[in-house]
Amino acid sequence: MKLGIVGLPNVGKSTLFNAITKAGAEIANYPFCTIDPNVGLVNVPDYRVDYLAKMHNSKKIVPAAIEFYDIAGLVKGASKGEGLGNKFLSNIRETDAIVEVLRCFNDPNVTHVDGNIDPLRDIETINFELILSDLELVEKVLVKREKVAKSDKSARSEVELLKRIKEVLEEGKSARVLNLHDEEKALLKTYQLLSTKPIIYVCNVDESDVANNGDDNEFVQKVREFAKEENAQVSVVSAKIEQEISELESEEEKKEFLEMIGLSESGCDQVIKDSYKTLNLISFLTTGEDETRAWTITNGTKAVDAAGKIHTDIQRGFIKAEIVSFDTLKEYGNMAKVKEHGQLRMEGKDYVMKDGDITNFKFNV
Ligand code: GDP
Repeated sequence: MKLGIVGLPNVGKSTLFNAITKAGAEIANYPFCTIDPNVGLVNVPDYRVDYLAKMHNSKKIVPAAIEFYDIAGLVKGASKGEGLGNKFLSNIRETDAIVEVLRCFNDPNVTHVDGNIDPLRDIETINFELILSDLELVEKVLVKREKVAKSDKSARSEVELLKRIKEVLEEGKSARVLNLHDEEKALLKTYQLLSTKPIIYVCNVDESDVANNGDDNEFVQKVREFAKEENAQVSVVSAKIEQEISELESEEEKKEFLEMIGLSESGCDQVIKDSYKTLNLISFLTTGEDETRAWTITNGTKAVDAAGKIHTDIQRGFIKAEIVSFDTLKEYGNMAKVKEHGQLRMEGKDYVMKDGDITNFKFNV
């Protein structure tokens, strides 16, 4: 699963990208690799994984991971193919969700491409390019699909949907305001519309604004209001502070630094977790002496399909899943107590997995 970090020049994208990839890399013993300078495979911080690994003295820890892309250089006119515009849009098309960094910090030494700080205008500038590109595509597709729909009834619902989207786009709004349900999303899948992709708005604020999560920053308030309409998440970070944190060597130092500035966790960790949520992903966990691992699944996945994530043989020979939630295990302290109190559940193929389910699949070989 990939997220693309976008934003106007000089808003702090690269600073944040570097801090995020470094933060993800520095969790001790976690595997990490840099595929390309602009791509980072980032571990999703999950205290449950650390807790279970400690409990079972696991030799190996495998956290969940997601990919971040630094998609630099989105400028006005991208949808018209100016400069490298089209390349940026096609990069965004390849992602599963968008992280849009917005400048909300004051610093006279860092110039803003449009003269002054105004995150709502910046959202408009960027989203306009995505909306325009979508509109062009939808108009083209509509002509074709309308022809097909004349003889093929099954194409009619798609045509209706495309018309609804076109209307919204023409109003200058992102298609995600329509809150499409899964079946509708499936109809549109081949088109990869940019403005239907889930989005997180990341407000890059002054150091003084992070402790109270940007509540005193008028720009952040405005972004939050805007994001409501799109059902989008808003994260508040100071890229500058995140950079400083990512340069600290030990976990101890980081903890002290965070305490000093009044944070319980780093903004990067928060952005990574929010990204996971925005992608509609959850983790089920397996744990033992050999390994503690977080397995990524889409929210709503059934037990039998979750089993397939581990191995197709487990999916094929699925008998049942022994499951206890992380919170229950934590409450009882160990597996023996969980069993003793009848808290280890036996779930069948159709059980819908929940985030933090500690799972042991039983299967026929
Ligand atoms: P990009 O063009 O969006 O990738 O922006 P950069 O990450 O390269 O940052 C542009 C400039 O803004 C650099 O000089 C950064 O040091 C500075 N910058 C980034 N984030 C912050 C921040 O949170 N506070 C302040 N004061 N400066 C920042």
